[in-house]
Amino acid sequence: MTDKRLYSPKYVKEILNRYGFQFSKSLGQNFLIDGNIVRKISGAGDITKEDYVLEIGPGIGTLTEELALNAKKVVAVELDEALLPILDETLKDYDNIEIIHGDILKVDIPKLIEEKLGGGPIKVVANLPYYVTTPIIGKLIEEDLNIHSIIVMIQKEVADRIVAPPNNKQYGSLSVFVNFYTNPEIMVRVPKTVFMPQPKVDSAVIKLTLKEELPEVDKKVFFKVVKSAFGKRRKTILNSLSSNGLGLDKETIREVLESLEIPIESRAENLNIEDFIKISKTLPPLDIY
Ligand code: SAM
Repeated sequence: MTDKRLYSPKYVKEILNRYGFQFSKSLGQNFLIDGNIVRKISGAGDITKEDYVLEIGPGIGTLTEELALNAKKVVAVELDEALLPILDETLKDYDNIEIIHGDILKVDIPKLIEEKLGGGPIKVVANLPYYVTTPIIGKLIEEDLNIHSIIVMIQKEVADRIVAPPNNKQYGSLSVFVNFYTNPEIMVRVPKTVFMPQPKVDSAVIKLTLKEELPEVDKKVFFKVVKSAFGKRRKTILNSLSSNGLGLDKETIREVLESLEIPIESRAENLNIEDFIKISKTLPPLDIY
C-alpha cells in the first residue's frame, strides 16, 4: 500500500515537478496538503465499507486515497488529462478506485451510478473549482438521482448563505432552493492555508443530505414565487409578488397573503419554506405552462 503521504507538501511538489505539471487556474486546481482536513472531509461523509462514492475532481488523488480506505468503491471523474498518469502512480495500490477522464458537467451520471456505483444510493464527494460547483450541485439535487448525500467544499460565504435561516441577512433564494431538496450542514471550516497553491478565499465543507420526500407542491410555481419574492428583497412581500413576473394584481396577492395570515408588510427574508409552499398552493393558476 502507498505510504499515506499524498498530502505532504514535499511529496505534492516532488510528484508535480517530476511530471512537469503546471497548475491550471481556470480548472480551479488547488490541491489539499493537510492530512487532517482530508480525514475530516471523509469523516463528514460518514463513509463506510458499504458505500459507493463518486468523487469529482480528484487532482493527484489525495482525497481519493482517504475515501478508498473507508469506502467499498470510489469512482473519480477528472477533467485534466495531465493528471491521469499521476493518478495512475499515486493510486496504483488500490483496487477499489476507478478513474474516469471527463467533464462532470457532461458525464451521464445516472448511467455511471447504474453501471459502476452499485445502482445507488451513492455518496458524492467533491473539492471543485467554484465555477463548476453551483451548476453541479443544482444538477445533483434537482434531477432525482439516486444520491444519499453530497459532501462538497465551497466558498465560505456561499456555505453561510446556504445554511442561513429566515430573518437573517444571508438568507435568500439559494437557501430556499438547497433547503427544499436537502438538509444542509456546515461540517468543517477550511482556511486557505491548507491548499497548494493558496486560493484567495476561505472555504467550508458542506454536507447536503437529500430529502427522501420532497414537499408536495408544483416545483415550477414554487420556484417562480421564490424568485419573484427575492427579486426585490427590500420590498414588502405584497409589492414584490405583485410586481415581479407572476402576472397577478396586487388585490389578488393581498387576498392570498391575508387568507394565509402572512403579514403583507413582511419581506421575503421573513418567510420560511412552508410559507412559500402555502403561497404557491393558494395563488390562482400562473401563466407559466
Ligand atoms: N480533490 C483534489 C484535492 O482536494 O487536492 C483536487 C481539488 S482541485 C480544487 C479541483 C479538481 O477538479 C482539479 O483536479 C481539476 O482538474 C478538477 N476539475 C475541474 N473542473 C472539472 C470538471 N468539470 N470535471 C471534473 N473535474 C474537474
